[in-house]
Amino acid sequence: MDNLVRMHERKRLYIGLLGASLLIVSMLTVAIWYLVFSPEKSVVYRLVLLALAAVLIIAILLAGFGLAGIVLTIIQSRQFSILQGPMRVALNTFFPLALALGKIFRIDMDRIKGSFIEVNNGLVNARGVKIEPAQLLLLVPHCLQNSECDIKVTNNIDNCRRCGKCGVNEILNLRDRYGIKVGMATGGTLARKYVREYRPKAIVAIACERDLTSGILDANPIPVLGITNLRPNGPCFNTHFSPDRLDDAIKFFVRSGCDGS
Ligand code: SF4
Repeated sequence: MDNLVRMHERKRLYIGLLGASLLIVSMLTVAIWYLVFSPEKSVVYRLVLLALAAVLIIAILLAGFGLAGIVLTIIQSRQFSILQGPMRVALNTFFPLALALGKIFRIDMDRIKGSFIEVNNGLVNARGVKIEPAQLLLLVPHCLQNSECDIKVTNNIDNCRRCGKCGVNEILNLRDRYGIKVGMATGGTLARKYVREYRPKAIVAIACERDLTSGILDANPIPVLGITNLRPNGPCFNTHFSPDRLDDAIKFFVRSGCDGS
């Protein structure tokens, strides 16, 4: 219950920043609109401003509907098909603006990105996508591997001897139990290669806030459930994950009867 409350609180940060970004762009548009009718400016200058104001008004309307769609989808846990396009505009186009605003207010970037991931997960949950296990790709970071293990598992995860000293063993157990695809990535380029190679219908990804955020935006429109890694030893070093959260995310996507039970 506490977890659920915390999850909703985390979502509020990104939604709040999106709303504030929308307000700032609206104020900017009003200022541009005011200049359009300024008699001291040349006709060409006023036409350019008019075109800019028109583009901004369309973006504001789309993002406004998108923001309403995001809030409604999360509150009601169901998809509003008509609002999918505007929601994409609000999430993707206004993302850099929300980050810039967070920077101005000195909000920790990982907190904002963590909030974005929670919002994304809420939207993916509402879509209720069900697929065959082989259509699901699990992307995991190479920093899960024990730093003292000298086996190269990034090219071929099956090189792992399953000694149980790190999470790679658990990842392989889950892969075998469900029959899903697994890719171990050292960065965005390798992750994109796995997506091109396996052509998944859905992705479950474990990574830090920064990599998850860029991965979710890159993979769009493929639904991605993001699981933030645990970093008790600092960033990118002997990281862990919550096996329960991972198991729940896989079960969420795979059709019943294929859920490893
Ligand atoms: S489970 Fe053992 S063999 Fe496999 S990657 Fe981890 S430490 Fe290496």
